Amino acid sequence: MKVRELIKSFKPYEWEPSRKEIAEKIGIPEEEVLRFDLNTVPFRPEEILRALSEKLPSLPVNEYPDPSYRELREALSEYLKVDPENIMVTVGADEALDIMAKTFIDPGTLALVSAPTYSMYRITVEALGGKIVEVLRNPDFSDNMEALIEQSRKPETRMVFLCSPNNPTGNLTPQEDAVRLLESVDCAVMVDEAYAEFSGTSLVNLAEKHENLMVVRTFSKAFALAGVRIGYVVASRETIELLNKVRPPNSVSVTSLALAKIALEKADFFLSKAREITAERERFSKALSRIEGLTVYPSHANFLLVRFEKTDALKVYMELLGRGIVVRRLSGTMLENCLRITVLDKAANDKLLDALKEILGGKG
Ligand code: PMP
Repeated sequence: MKVRELIKSFKPYEWEPSRKEIAEKIGIPEEEVLRFDLNTVPFRPEEILRALSEKLPSLPVNEYPDPSYRELREALSEYLKVDPENIMVTVGADEALDIMAKTFIDPGTLALVSAPTYSMYRITVEALGGKIVEVLRNPDFSDNMEALIEQSRKPETRMVFLCSPNNPTGNLTPQEDAVRLLESVDCAVMVDEAYAEFSGTSLVNLAEKHENLMVVRTFSKAFALAGVRIGYVVASRETIELLNKVRPPNSVSVTSLALAKIALEKADFFLSKAREITAERERFSKALSRIEGLTVYPSHANFLLVRFEKTDALKVYMELLGRGIVVRRLSGTMLENCLRITVLDKAANDKLLDALKEILGGKG
C-alpha cells in the first residue's frame, strides 16, 4: 500500500493495558482492578443514565443529528455564560484538537507546546506534517511565557498549545500570562481546560474578546462521561466559523447529545462531586507526601504528579500493577522517575497508599 511516508515511523498514543488484560494477567476479577491512570472520576452518573433510558424510546436515531448541535450549544451557553455562537461541540476534546490542527497546520509549519504536557497535541500536529516545538516549562512547571512569546512570533508558528490545569503536572496557566501571550502574538492559542471544573478557574470569558483564543473543554472528566465522548470549543464567532469549515457534520451521536444535555441540567451535582474530589485530593496528597522519598507536586486537577527520589518509578509501577493497581507511567524531560496518579475515592486511594508504603518499605 502507498502509505504516507511520515506514518511509517509515526509514534502513536500510548495507553496502559485494558482492565481485562490486567485482570487476566494477574488472575483477579476485572472489577478489582483499580485504575489510577485514566484521570476519570470514580463514579457512574446513574441518575442521568436513568433519565436517558426514559428518553430512549423517542430518540430519533433513524435520522442524523442536527449538524449544528444547537440544543446542546444552548444548554452549554447557559452553563458557561457565553453565547451559543461561541461554542462548537465535538467528539471529546480530542476531536477538537484534530479540527484545530486541520484548520491551522500546513506541512512544515510549527506548533508550540508548553512541555511536558498532554501527548495528543504532538500527534494531531505531526499527523498533518506539522512540527512540534517543545518549549520547556520552568522548574516549578509554570509556562515559560517569554520563550513561548518569542517562538510564536516566528512566521512559521501557527499554534500554541497550553493546558490548564496541565496534564500531567497539575498546575494552572495564570489568566494574566495567557492574556499577555494572546496580546503579544497573532497565531492561534489553544488552552485545554479538560480539568477546569476541578480548578474553579477558566478562560472561556476571554474568548469573545481575543480572536486567537480557543478554549477546549470536555464532559469526560468532572461530568463522568468519558465513555460517551463529548467535548467542545469556546472561541470567538470568527474562529468558530473557521473551525466549522473542517468539522465533520455528524460525528456526535444523538444519544451522546441527549446524555450531555441531561448532565448539564444536573451541573450542580457534578460540580459538587468535583469539589468532593478536590477535597480528597488534598487529603491524599498530604498522606502521599508523608511517605519518605516521595515528592508530591501541587495540583489543581483530579490527579497528582509524584516523583520517587530513591526508588525506580518503573519498579514501583510494576509492583503496583502486580497488585491490580494501575498508575500512569510518564516519560520525557522533567518527568524522570515520576508517575501520575488519579484521585479516586477515599477507599481506593487508601489502598494505593498502603501498597506504596509496603513497596517502599516505609523508606521510599
Ligand atoms: N485534554 C487533556 C489534557 C486530557 O488529559 C485528555 C484525556 N485524558 C483529553 C484532552 C481528552 O479528552 P476527551 O476524553 O474529551 O477526548
